[in-house]
Amino acid sequence: MIKENQRLIRARDTEDELTCIVCPIGCRLTVDRTADGEIEVSGNRCKRGVAYAREEFMDPRRVVTGTCAISGAVSARLPVKSSNGVPIDDLAPFLKAMYEIRLSAPVKRGALIASDLGGTGIDLIATMTAGGSRE
Ligand code: SF4
Repeated sequence: MIKENQRLIRARDTEDELTCIVCPIGCRLTVDRTADGEIEVSGNRCKRGVAYAREEFMDPRRVVTGTCAISGAVSARLPVKSSNGVPIDDLAPFLKAMYEIRLSAPVKRGALIASDLGGTGIDLIATMTAGGSRE
């Protein structure tokens, strides 16, 4: 499943168009690579589209949301998310490490679940409180 997701994410790498998702306008961006490895962006209505396209082509990242197993709480899974965007090449080790985590309640919303998860340099954070008096 993880390999399939990476294949789908990478499928766009060979194309030179993408839709900017920074705001609801959704400009259709065209990206050209220059001889020195830089990129030129057109179709954007503002600078944020250039920054978005540059990151997507040079250092694509995704914020990861998911759940971890937890015992001693009403639910068997605790919602979590990455502290920052995870480089696409690091998604597999990040997800593998995330699904191996076993927590025990109580856990507070915003708590650090794991640092440098999967050796990616990105942390994992709880997005909900589980157990305790305010679950
Ligand atoms: S380029 Fe600017 S205006 Fe266009 S979708 Fe991106 S953020 Fe919105």
